[in-house]
Amino acid sequence: MKAMVLNKVCDLKENKKPLEMVNLPDPVPGEKEIRVKISACGVCHTELDEIEGRTPPQLPVVLGHQVVGRVEKAGKKTKKYKMGDRVGIAWIYSACGQCKYCLQGDDNLCKEFRATGQDANGGYAEYMTVKEDFAFLIPDVYSDVQAAPLLCAGAIGYRSLRLTGVKDEQSLGLTGFGASAHLVLKMVRNKYPHTKVFVFARSEKERIFAKELGAIWAGDTCDESPEKLDSIIDTTPAWKPVVEALKNLKSGGRLVINAIRKEEKDKDCLLKLDYPGHLWMEKEIKSVANVASRDVSEFLELAAKIPIIPEVQEFALEEANTALLELKERKIRGAKVLRINAY
Ligand SMILES: [Zn+2]
Ligand SMILES: [Zn+2]
Repeated sequence: MKAMVLNKVCDLKENKKPLEMVNLPDPVPGEKEIRVKISACGVCHTELDEIEGRTPPQLPVVLGHQVVGRVEKAGKKTKKYKMGDRVGIAWIYSACGQCKYCLQGDDNLCKEFRATGQDANGGYAEYMTVKEDFAFLIPDVYSDVQAAPLLCAGAIGYRSLRLTGVKDEQSLGLTGFGASAHLVLKMVRNKYPHTKVFVFARSEKERIFAKELGAIWAGDTCDESPEKLDSIIDTTPAWKPVVEALKNLKSGGRLVINAIRKEEKDKDCLLKLDYPGHLWMEKEIKSVANVASRDVSEFLELAAKIPIIPEVQEFALEEANTALLELKERKIRGAKVLRINAY
C-alpha cells in the first residue's frame, strides 16, 4: 500500500517535506482486528507536535488519527462489523480493556493506552488495522471527508464538556475559541439549551463569531465575566488564561484544561496565582487526557443529530506535506483532510 511515513523528527522550518511516500506491505488484521480501506484522514495540529518532537512518536510511523474508511477484511474473532461498513478511527488506538479505567469507561486513562498515528500506524495511508472495539460507525449524514475532522477536535471537545459536569441552566465559560471550542459551543446550544455560554478570546473576530454561534457574552482573555461561572473550559496553549479563568469561577466551580501540553514561555503568570481569589472556596482544576472510546461514539451520535457539518479543504495523500505546512503557517480554510482511496 501507499503510505506517507515519518522516519525522523525534524524542524518543519528547515525540512518542509518531513513525510516520505513509500510502499509498505498491506497490514494483516490480527484475530480481533479489522482492516479498513481508508478514504479520508484529517490533518491535525498534533501531527506537527509529533513531527517536531514535542509529542515524540515511535518511528518510523504513519501519522493520522482522524481516519474514515470501510471494513474490508476481518480477523477470526471479530463480530461487530460486516464487510463494507463505514467506520472511523480516532486518537484512541487501543487500551487493555480489563483495568479499572477501561471498565469504568475511561479507557483514555489506561496504562496501556496507545494512540493512533503515534504508537501505531495511522491513517496517512491506503489501509490500516485496528481492534474492532476502537472503530466507530460513521453516521449517514456525513460524507467521508466531512466525518474525518469530527474524530479529533469534536470528540475531545465532547470529553471536556462532559468533564465540566455542567447541567442545563448552569453557566459555562470557554477561554480560547478555536476548532474544539466552536464545536463545544454548538454542542451546548443543542444539549443544554438553557446554559449561558461566555467566551474569552483575544481577537475581536473570534468574539464576534462566538456571539454569532450563540454565546451570550464575549470578552478578552483577562476580562471579568458579567457573572461568576459554574465551569470554564480552557483550550489555550498558555498559562495566563488559566489564572484569569479561575477568578471568574463560582465557589465550587471547575476549570477544565483541554490542552495536550502547555507552553513554558508564560509560566511566570502562575506566580500571580492568588489563593483567596483564585482557588479558595473549593474551586477545582481538571485536565483532559486523550479521548475515551465512548466519547467518540457518543459525540458522533450527537454531532449527527445537531447536525455539526465541518467545512473541509481536501488534499491528495501525496500532498500531506503541503497540508501540514499550511497548518503550521496557519493558512486555514476549513479542516484539512487527505482524500485517499476513492469511493
Ligand atoms: Zn488531533
Ligand atoms: Zn485498561
